[in-house]
Amino acid sequence: IKKITASKKHPYADWKEGTPTPYAALCKTFELIDGTTKRLEITAHTSLFFQQVLRLNPSELVTVVHLMLNRLAADYMGIELGIGESLIMKAISESTGRSLEKLKAMQSKVGDLGMIAYQSRNAQSTLFKPQPLTVDKIFKGLYKVATTKGDGAMGLKVAEIKKLLAACQGEEAKFLVRGLEGKLRLGLAEGTVIPALAQAVITWEKQKEGKVASSKDLAAAEHILKEVFSGLPSYEVIVPAMIEHGIMNLKDHCTMQPGVPLKPMLAKPTKAITEVLDRFENKKFSCEFKYDGERAQIHYVSPNATEKYASTAKDPKKGLTMIFSRNSEDLSTKYPDILAVLNQWVGDSTTSFILDCETTAVDKDTAKLLPFQTLMTRKRKDVAIEDVKVKVCVYAFDLLFLNGESLVHKSLAERRDAMREAFKEVEGEFAYAKHANIDQVDEIQSFLEESVKSQCEGLMVKMLDGEESHYTPSKRSHNWLKIKKDYLAGTGDSLDLVVLGAYHGRGKRTSVYGAFLLACYNPSTEQYETICNIGTGFSDEVLAALHKQLEPLIIAKPKPFYAHSTVPKDQPDVWFEPQVVWEVLCADLTLSPRYKAAADNVDSSGKGVSLRFPRYIRDRDDKKPDNATTARQVAEMYRKQESVGGASKGGVDDD
Ligand code: ATP
Repeated sequence: IKKITASKKHPYADWKEGTPTPYAALCKTFELIDGTTKRLEITAHTSLFFQQVLRLNPSELVTVVHLMLNRLAADYMGIELGIGESLIMKAISESTGRSLEKLKAMQSKVGDLGMIAYQSRNAQSTLFKPQPLTVDKIFKGLYKVATTKGDGAMGLKVAEIKKLLAACQGEEAKFLVRGLEGKLRLGLAEGTVIPALAQAVITWEKQKEGKVASSKDLAAAEHILKEVFSGLPSYEVIVPAMIEHGIMNLKDHCTMQPGVPLKPMLAKPTKAITEVLDRFENKKFSCEFKYDGERAQIHYVSPNATEKYASTAKDPKKGLTMIFSRNSEDLSTKYPDILAVLNQWVGDSTTSFILDCETTAVDKDTAKLLPFQTLMTRKRKDVAIEDVKVKVCVYAFDLLFLNGESLVHKSLAERRDAMREAFKEVEGEFAYAKHANIDQVDEIQSFLEESVKSQCEGLMVKMLDGEESHYTPSKRSHNWLKIKKDYLAGTGDSLDLVVLGAYHGRGKRTSVYGAFLLACYNPSTEQYETICNIGTGFSDEVLAALHKQLEPLIIAKPKPFYAHSTVPKDQPDVWFEPQVVWEVLCADLTLSPRYKAAADNVDSSGKGVSLRFPRYIRDRDDKKPDNATTARQVAEMYRKQESVGGASKGGVDDD
């Protein structure tokens, strides 16, 4: 890091204090990052850029952080890039005067649409140099592209992209287009941006005092920012607070807020009850039913609460009731029936809360649990209460915030007690997840069987006491273990995989796709790595529906961020935009030169991990492609299977 800081002159010489941040400076940083695969160097370049923004125009830091992450707002705002290839092509063609045929021909050679935009833009002879682009202009333009809806939206989006492209110089067109596609391919995920941001802020603060930040300062700043962000994942709130109050004081000014969803805590899979007992030896733990529905984080502030309101509450006097998915997507218009009755479960002294739950389909008359597939028949948005046909019951299993206070640093036993005091069960509408504090194999086995008989997926086993039982947002923690009935049947763990391509069906399946190419996700490289072909587990109806769903997603060439075999016989008949995620089960994992999954994570001389006998289970439309099973998880599953008896002890938290 020292070498980079000392040897590289700042690449943004023309950028003066108080002036808008040039987009060229951001692109220069992207280029530097693109030129290395070393995590420390990427962090250093990112941090240097943030420091420069802090010195010259700190009010633009939020915009810069979002553009670095290729995002336009916090996840829960639901404003996303990821513009389809054909629309971008149209804009490049109209803006640069190159025909679509020529662009398509270039694409089959070059692949990367960003590169094509760059080459086409720079081949144009321009009479006069456009005004330099600023990050602010780019951000506003991208925002407009992402949020334009309704009649004529496509035309307006193309017009906006054209306008931006026309103002691009040098490498700018490349990064603009990659950004529009939803992938910068720089590996700039939160895991890199947060440490870089913390380093930049503490360095800048110390410099103002004429001091140098020590490694202890850097570590402390990073720790604070990580912790605050995990409870309040919103740069819009955190960055200005950090600049105003100092990073070391951040915890006093930014705490969890109803209205801002947290990334949920996740569990590690286990294959046997004995594995659970090994992990939790001599610890207190608790088993809960694992309900088979949809994760729901319910946020509430009563109309007469006196505590601080979320910055998102539209009208504080009316209070706030919202439901978020595991991806921080707003599900409030999917579950108006829940919101309508929520007041009835809230205790008299409860003024605000964030509750972690599973919404599960139940029979209207008997209140018996129904399978996940029934829940999936509900519309995802804009549901009118009178149209609700599938009734749901909310099963609450954790309480993260109560009456203005975060509970994540309390033990599970304490959080459970608080939850039971703050709510009232209402039959068929609201219940606590069934639990048992048992620790013998046969007791756990019969509790598991009971859960399966009640239509549950299995058990969640959780640390009950002490620091290890604290709620860790966004972590896949080995303090929460899941035992699914399928694991025990010997079929292995399930994976959530992205559909990248398909093969035309034969015989009975001629009018539909007969098989599909799936991939896992590698967040460090931002690539989708192929893992298997799948043709089992689909009914004829499902295949017909999938054909209809996937056909509009066809693209001419695999995206440059698809890591796949280039051997001609391994190619699917069609490639898709990465949008659809499926849950898949398999017999076991094996190595294959045909696939690329986790090839860099396992010692396999270039072979990827692949699935044997993969079977389609269901669509995971609550997961985005970036939430698919990661390459690291695939490698972990592969290794675990290799070492007889499992090796869950001391596993790595990787989310
Ligand atoms: P993952 O990324 O862990 O695979 P997933 O969404 O695919 O997540 P599972 O692996 O099936 O889910 O297991 C975790 C999920 O189980 C939680 O996200 C939650 O939706 C659900 N769940 C049901 N009952 C409970 C419970 N008692 N405690 C925690 N989670 C539960």
